[in-house]
Amino acid sequence: MRFALPSGDHVSAWSDPDDGSVHVPFDFDEAYRNYVTEEWKDHRSLRALSPNQLQLYYRVKRAVPRSWLLSARRVFMRRAGLPGFPAWPLDESVDRLLHFYALCLLTAGGSSHAPFRWFWPGSRRAALMLTHDVESAAGLRLAIDIADLEEARGFRSSFNIVGADYPIDMGIARELAGRGFEIGLHGLHHDRSLFSSREEFVRQLPGLRDAAQGLGAVGFRSPATHRVVEWLPELPVSYDCTMFHSDPYEPLPGGCCTLWPFRLGSIIELPYTLPQDHTLFTLLRERSTQRWLTTADAIEARHGLIQCLSHPDPGYLGERDNRVLYIEFLDALAERPRLWRALPRDVASWWHHRETAETPDEDVELGTMWRDGPNVWFEPPDATVGEEAAHLP
Ligand SMILES: [Zn+2]
Repeated sequence: MRFALPSGDHVSAWSDPDDGSVHVPFDFDEAYRNYVTEEWKDHRSLRALSPNQLQLYYRVKRAVPRSWLLSARRVFMRRAGLPGFPAWPLDESVDRLLHFYALCLLTAGGSSHAPFRWFWPGSRRAALMLTHDVESAAGLRLAIDIADLEEARGFRSSFNIVGADYPIDMGIARELAGRGFEIGLHGLHHDRSLFSSREEFVRQLPGLRDAAQGLGAVGFRSPATHRVVEWLPELPVSYDCTMFHSDPYEPLPGGCCTLWPFRLGSIIELPYTLPQDHTLFTLLRERSTQRWLTTADAIEARHGLIQCLSHPDPGYLGERDNRVLYIEFLDALAERPRLWRALPRDVASWWHHRETAETPDEDVELGTMWRDGPNVWFEPPDATVGEEAAHLP
């Protein structure tokens, strides 16, 4: 296998036919870490707003009509174009790295197959998480409508509430929790203050801890996905879902390029993997769920985590047209029995368990990695041999 360097030179991975050893011109752990922590950004110029431009954007945001801002963002996106990396809506970088890692393992072991801890409980082909950020008190009232639609189709989801920006109707939060939905924390204030400086981050931590406790939240998503990746493990929660596998439309674009959860220090990171409702329905003015469903199909075929992020608020799913599309999306997902429908907190504790359990473990089953020449595929514990080869990425 050959790999191109930024300089234009090439380096190769090769196996020695005499002793079967495999030589790889990079470090797998380092490559993986560079993707998931977005460290790759240090070596790339991103087509994004500078910190000063971003500050200006937030200063004028409240002063000008929303439609003007949307038009300005559309012009900006058209001029900038979509980046080649991370690819959108689906980036396969970490999936490819994983396949190459498996190929090297099997080649070095001289075998055609080997067991590994399957990604999900039992033989589930992929996982599905529905999450919502609640931007306003009106959004929290509308959350009940969204919960009704989901519950009627056998789904539960999480609602991330802002801790100290709008009056929180605790009756609604308690009702949602009582019906099996999850409440998460969406920052204290819906702005970029939390990650604006180290001092401010430290100053807000006690308030975040109190807000999480008051809401019974163990999960967090940062407002407008602002983030400093190294600080995320200090949040007073057990998981974070701020990061995304690829999203060029966020104020801080980029992506962790993976379709699976991963560990950041003491917390589990659950990246969202589908375009946001606002991106599809408002910014891009798409009037179908096709992009959501084809991306979900692709993630299911790769056995990843399908995570949808939408908003119950006015201007989002609060609008009738958008809600109709969301219902279509739920109806289509309800037809997929092999997906593990799970709350974020359950996915996070599963991932922790999968990492730390001693095998054999009654919950963690073994899948099989298969190799045929340079091709590698992953089969669930209950698959018949060859079933998955048809879905080679
Ligand atoms: Zn938000």
